[in-house]
Amino acid sequence: MLTAVVGINWGDEGKGRMVDLLSKQYDVVCRYQGGNNAGHTVVTNDGKFILNLLPSGILHKGTVNVMGGGMVIDLEHLVGEIAAFRQRGIYISPDNLKISDKAFICFPYHVTQDILEEERLGDKKFGSTRRGIAPAYGDKYMKKGIRMGDLRNLAAVKQSLSDIVEWKNVTTKGYGDFHTNADIIMKWLDTFGSELIPYITDVTNYLSDSVKEGRDILLEAQLGALRDIDYGIYPYTTSSQTLAAYAPIGAGIPGVSLGNVLGVMKAYSSCVGEGPFTAEMSDLDASALREAGEEFGAATGRPRRVGGFDVVASRYGVAMQGADELALTKLDILSYFDEIPVCVAYEIDGHRTDRFPSGDELVRAKPVYEYFEGFKVDISGCRKAEDLPEPALRYIRYIEKAVDCPIKYVSVGPKRDDYFVL
Ligand code: GDP
Repeated sequence: MLTAVVGINWGDEGKGRMVDLLSKQYDVVCRYQGGNNAGHTVVTNDGKFILNLLPSGILHKGTVNVMGGGMVIDLEHLVGEIAAFRQRGIYISPDNLKISDKAFICFPYHVTQDILEEERLGDKKFGSTRRGIAPAYGDKYMKKGIRMGDLRNLAAVKQSLSDIVEWKNVTTKGYGDFHTNADIIMKWLDTFGSELIPYITDVTNYLSDSVKEGRDILLEAQLGALRDIDYGIYPYTTSSQTLAAYAPIGAGIPGVSLGNVLGVMKAYSSCVGEGPFTAEMSDLDASALREAGEEFGAATGRPRRVGGFDVVASRYGVAMQGADELALTKLDILSYFDEIPVCVAYEIDGHRTDRFPSGDELVRAKPVYEYFEGFKVDISGCRKAEDLPEPALRYIRYIEKAVDCPIKYVSVGPKRDDYFVL
């Protein structure tokens, strides 16, 4: 079975938590896009783990974890992440971690470029995580970079790297401070790359064989549908394809069809960074929800913008992901509301719509809010639908119908067991 676990919203839906939960049923877990701008949080009996680059199956010893060719990898960050996880007793070796030879390398100069560009933009900044992700993907499509497989023979890439660095210095002249040097980059590649060579694998072969042998594979996304570079809230998107349709491509098995798409959807809305966010709450209401939901970025610590559940955006997210079923997360957070706010439609230039717009229309959209009866009790101990108070169950059933997709899992807390199957 080939399953994709993807985000329905703007990211931070709790994908890491769901992937960790499901990993024990899968032989292989593969991250298929993004870089260390991710911050998937998993809470086990050993505490809280934040995964930036490592797939969220790494906490299960029997699961093989794959970093797909659609990822961009900061070598230094990955070496540090592996060391930190090992220090906490997590088993990581070439047996259970395989890195695609086709994944693209995110260099220190990508990070510098990202920071300098955000600073240049000032008030008009995008809200980048400043980890070099957009410049790295940009260079990938400019065909100005090197891939993980190249680390196996650095001598062979010396000349092309020198040409790339020369180009980088030409194209970034306007930043003034920016200057990089091929020798420094070669040394960085050698220092951190040599530690990663044992993990580099022809992942296409590995995954194709796994499919043939009938092994179960879970493909893990970073961010959500609304951050997809093509179908999200461009240009306030990420720089890669977050959608399930891309998952087999980013993983390394483009010809294999998905058997199941599980969309992870939050019981309210949150959004990190800039850009249109129609359901956004006013300051006072937002700070109460932000505190209740601990909505601060896992990768950066930035406060997230928050709002009520957005039916219009979520229905679009479900459709773009082609979700077969959903996991509804963070329902427990809503228990403090007397009345639960839900953005049921948008109003654009005086006209009500339930179609998710793009571009300037999205910027002009205003939320139409309705209020649902609150449940006002702690539901984090609920382990079956019958344990839920009636208004909570009604809220779930309303959402299910509104986004036109069945909810299979309901998550009521961050720990592994804080969930039930509906
Ligand atoms: P991801 O990037 O999609 O994996 O999501 P993040 O890890 O950035 O954000 C989700 C946060 O919510 C993490 O801190 C999780 O531990 C936490 N979380 C996930 N599901 C639940 C839930 O059902 N209830 C509560 N209270 N927290 C949750």
